[in-house]
Amino acid sequence: MKKVLVILLLLLTSNTALAVSEITLNDVKRPQSAILFIVDGFGSSYYYPEFTPFALDGSELVKVKAQNLTFGTRIINIKTPHPVTGIAHSVIVTGFSEANEEIVGYPDATIYDVTRQHGFVNLAVMEKGDFRNMREEQDIILFAENNSLDEPLISIQAKKAPSGVYELMYDWKMKMPAYMENKSGAGKYSAYNKWGIDAANAVANAMIKNHPSQKFLLTVNIGAIDSGGHNLGDDDYVKLIEDLDRDFYPLYKTAQDNGIALFLTADHGMSFAAKNARRGGHSSEKYSLRQESLRIPLVIISPNTVPGMLSGEYRQEDIAPTLLSVLDLPNRLQYTDGKTINIKNYASIFVKGDSQYTVSLWNDGRKISESSDSELIFAGLPLNTSYTLKATGEGGAYEERVSLDSDKGVSFHKPDGGLSSRQMFAIILIFIVIIGGIIVIKRIKD
Ligand SMILES: [Zn+2]
Repeated sequence: MKKVLVILLLLLTSNTALAVSEITLNDVKRPQSAILFIVDGFGSSYYYPEFTPFALDGSELVKVKAQNLTFGTRIINIKTPHPVTGIAHSVIVTGFSEANEEIVGYPDATIYDVTRQHGFVNLAVMEKGDFRNMREEQDIILFAENNSLDEPLISIQAKKAPSGVYELMYDWKMKMPAYMENKSGAGKYSAYNKWGIDAANAVANAMIKNHPSQKFLLTVNIGAIDSGGHNLGDDDYVKLIEDLDRDFYPLYKTAQDNGIALFLTADHGMSFAAKNARRGGHSSEKYSLRQESLRIPLVIISPNTVPGMLSGEYRQEDIAPTLLSVLDLPNRLQYTDGKTINIKNYASIFVKGDSQYTVSLWNDGRKISESSDSELIFAGLPLNTSYTLKATGEGGAYEERVSLDSDKGVSFHKPDGGLSSRQMFAIILIFIVIIGGIIVIKRIKD
């Protein structure tokens, strides 16, 4: 009985089919798709030109030059609030500093919920960070079931993958042994990473070639920089970063050549007790407060972002709202406390109503655009300009002035929280069901 009521209420009050109108003005270049590339355990301290890495005992550690990993828009100061793999991945995808693996599974908690509602498919290739709720968010994921480099166990989990992607991922699952053959030491770790990068690149290229109009968000995690930090020394750890710089280039080219937004980041960094220490760490008490564990890279290329370095203080929870902004998607993350980093070379207005509205956009008394829907996205407006939004719909007429120092969200809801005809209908129906239920129960009792 209770179940029936809940289902009825959900069916009648939720906007099951999201109607979105996207209006792009001024011929700006928007990325159709995005790649979120997470390098597990990759501390920016070890390669950002601005930083010098130190060991716990104060000794200076070796650094690498990694030209392919410092492209585009680079955020210098960005840290994770919790240098722990599962939690930090949860922070990245929810934009919430107190997120955990459970929250990732909540409705409207992640970037994947927003992308899915706006017609994207969510694809993933992950060696670490692929906990159950993370996998559930994906339409298809190729992932490592264990963290073993000696006997890697690769699996695929799929809901509704674009045609051919399952087969492609299966081919890549079968290619893993060839990558690892005759490899040892740090070379084996790099081979494991290269497999993940090449598989992700193959997935991106297949989407571009075989599904050119399908928007996608491809999440990648490569795991062996983290494993190398834990199991090898600080010297091998930076060697693995050098190898990543080389092996990453084909994926970078794919994004660059096809106008795909590419976000390179990490869940957390890595710390070492001393120079030539044979083991590193990041989450235990000894390491977790170290800058080397907390600092992560954030490097972005996208056709609509301004290249260069940003030196303000940022947090890992800012990544999710920033990624949505770059894709011109509204920040509807349910739990986020992150802030959008302003890197886009234009602004967008996201309009959401409780029913369909006719919305027009005005500048200097001139109508720029008009459209009707319950959700509208006006993308491509010049930064630092002001517009007036006029809306008419079931809830009345509205006028709102917006100043575009960045993306703006505007909602139209009926005043005094009055019920829509749909909600009224739902309530009447529920009463009928309850009364019907009582009559049935009475009859049974009698
Ligand atoms: Zn990790």
